[in-house]
Amino acid sequence: MMQTRSATREARWSAALHAHQRRVTRQRLAVLAAVEQSPHATADDTAGAVRAELPQITVQSVYVILADLTAIGLLRRIETPHSPARYETRVDDNHHHAVCTGCGRIEDVDCAVGHAPCLTPEWSPGASRMTIQIAEVLYQGLCDDCRPAAPHHHQSHHQE
Ligand SMILES: [Zn+2]
Ligand SMILES: [Zn+2]
Repeated sequence: MMQTRSATREARWSAALHAHQRRVTRQRLAVLAAVEQSPHATADDTAGAVRAELPQITVQSVYVILADLTAIGLLRRIETPHSPARYETRVDDNHHHAVCTGCGRIEDVDCAVGHAPCLTPEWSPGASRMTIQIAEVLYQGLCDDCRPAAPHHHQSHHQE
C-alpha cells in the first residue's frame, strides 16, 4: 500500500461515498479523482481521463457515475454557454464562475456571501413571490490572452 497523497484522497472519497450509501468502487474513485485533478472538465474529458486508467469502463458508465455523484452532492455540475456541462469537486461553497467568451477558459470566483442564495430578487409588482434557493451567477468577459493587447491598435477597443 502506498502512503501517498492519492491514498489519502481515496480514503477521503471512500468515506464520502459511504456517507451517501454508495459502494466504494474503482470506477467511482477514478471519476472523483479525474474531476478533482481537472476541475471544470466536461464529461467527455473526464471519460478520457478515467479510461486511461480503467480502459474497460465505458463512456456511458462514466456519464452515469457523474450524474449520480452530482445527484448526491459529491460533484457540482456547471452549465456555461456554448459548452457541454462541466463538473468539479468544489461543492458547498456556492462559488461562481467566470467564463472567457474568447477561449472558453473558466475560473472560479468566490461567492461574496459564501452560501446560496447570494442575491435576493426585487420582485416586480404583481409577481408571485418564491422562496429563492439559488442565484446562478455567471461572469462573462475576456481573459488576458484573448483581450487585444493595449499597445497594438488592432481593432476598435478603446479603454478610458
Ligand atoms: Zn480567453
Ligand atoms: Zn468551480
